[in-house]
Amino acid sequence: MIDLIQSHFPTGTVASPTSKTRGFISVPGTSVEMPFTFIYGALPGKSILLTAGVHGGEYPCIETAIQLANEINPAEIQGTILIIHPVNPAAFLARMQYYGPFDGKNLNRVFPGKATGTVSERIAYQVHQFQQAADFYLDLHGGDIHEGLVPFVIYSTLGGPELSEQSRIASALLGFPYVVGSVSDNSSIGAAAKVGIPGFLAELGQCGRWNQDEVNQYKTAVVNVLRSFSVLQGEVKQHEVEFLKKMLVSTATVEGCWYPDVKLEDLVKQGQKLGEIRDYFGVVKAEYFADSDGIILYLVTSLAIMINDPLCAIGVTA
Ligand SMILES: [Zn+2]
Repeated sequence: MIDLIQSHFPTGTVASPTSKTRGFISVPGTSVEMPFTFIYGALPGKSILLTAGVHGGEYPCIETAIQLANEINPAEIQGTILIIHPVNPAAFLARMQYYGPFDGKNLNRVFPGKATGTVSERIAYQVHQFQQAADFYLDLHGGDIHEGLVPFVIYSTLGGPELSEQSRIASALLGFPYVVGSVSDNSSIGAAAKVGIPGFLAELGQCGRWNQDEVNQYKTAVVNVLRSFSVLQGEVKQHEVEFLKKMLVSTATVEGCWYPDVKLEDLVKQGQKLGEIRDYFGVVKAEYFADSDGIILYLVTSLAIMINDPLCAIGVTA
């Protein structure tokens, strides 16, 4: 990890123990410059990669990464932590949901990326190089500008049962109420798992807002995980969380206005109506029903809906 990040250090700066280096990672062939903080601990230990702002409109996680980058003292850690905050500055500044402004792609659907691809693919490729050099990968997300959610954590089930179990246990240490496995192979954590790197994708905060209480909760959660790897010292707190069987996402089959019939954390029954999309005259164009019993983990809050947009997700209880 040190060799890989050192090539992005400001000229004349050399990595050495008990140091913190700030700079920008240039993504080759693009104008993208990802702000990073590299914390080099006093003692040897694990290499941690922490990213936030893969999606530009998820503010609590981005602010959490910025504050952690400032607050973690290299003298108090073992190993190294590379924090990228945010991964997608152009999407952040443009206040974009899901997508990047350069190519209209969802960065979290193009991993592990391509060295010679579109801008989003090149960003993913760059992040993937750091993933491969890490012992553990934390990807911080949240509800997007138009999404409400209950805090939950997704880990990848790719990469074999041992890796998956490592990721699942670490996910629970965040203390968010729900944890669920995913088989997606083009997400940040899916790409990491496929090359043998454990990790998780955390979700906290919603609807284009952020506040310090959420950031404090996020920071405490991340610190607990870092303690479990002995990167930070301190007691590791165990949490009671609910492990869900899977997550089912309903997506829009038509564009129009979205009227949900459910609320966050509602327990729904299979066949129960989730909501409907109407046209501009109030005529129902499509209705959506639960494919399984479960709990509503996230819900799109905007009236506007495009075809193929997610509408809501059901966490299927075991
Ligand atoms: Zn996200």
